[in-house]
Amino acid sequence: ANFAQLGIIAPLLNRLTELAYVLPTPVQAATIPAVLAGRDVLAGANTGSGKTAAFAIPVLQQLVEAKTDDKSGAYVRCLVLVPTRELAQQVADSFLSYASHLNGQLKIVAAFGGVSVNAQMQSLRAGADVLVATPGRLLDLLSSNAIKLNRVSVLVLDEADRMLSLGFTDELAQVLDALPAKKQTLLFSATFPEEVRELTTKLLNNPLEYQL
Ligand code: AMP
Repeated sequence: ANFAQLGIIAPLLNRLTELAYVLPTPVQAATIPAVLAGRDVLAGANTGSGKTAAFAIPVLQQLVEAKTDDKSGAYVRCLVLVPTRELAQQVADSFLSYASHLNGQLKIVAAFGGVSVNAQMQSLRAGADVLVATPGRLLDLLSSNAIKLNRVSVLVLDEADRMLSLGFTDELAQVLDALPAKKQTLLFSATFPEEVRELTTKLLNNPLEYQL
């Protein structure tokens, strides 16, 4: 199937054409329709598999189709958790690139440590449609009430195995506690050690499973 057959809307399709993405990669073909249908997803995917677009494209589509103009607070609609600053920047850049024909309808923010928290707080004051964050900085923002996570409708865990192997287990548990029970969860991981499998069992509800 091509991207149009997967149900992607024109402004996103046009961007994919510009980027010369001709056909979906296997992880994209498997997960995009499931995400659009509102299902949880558990995907085995390495860097280079096209995993970023596999979650970013359908998430952008869902957010734009359900867009509300409520700017009443620092609410986050989609939270993407990643293990490192570099990946946070890279994933946020990918979201921005894929969203470039959505006429600025969606606000995409990256938050990670090592840089001043003030600018990140400022840009989150009116909330974010997509917040891409590392667990430590996210908890800083949460504890200083700079963001509200109780209206998150989509949670993405990218490189879940690295997140846990880097020692973010406790931070992750605290973040998950701040999220509503009812949400769509997408989990991407290159490997599935015991700790990741425990997390998937706890977090995912009848997920579409894709393995490499
Ligand atoms: P990722 O696995 O998300 O890090 O993506 C790896 C690379 O593949 C990135 O440079 C993407 O821009 C590129 N890419 C993702 N999906 C496609 C596709 N369907 N066709 C061609 N390139 C792609």
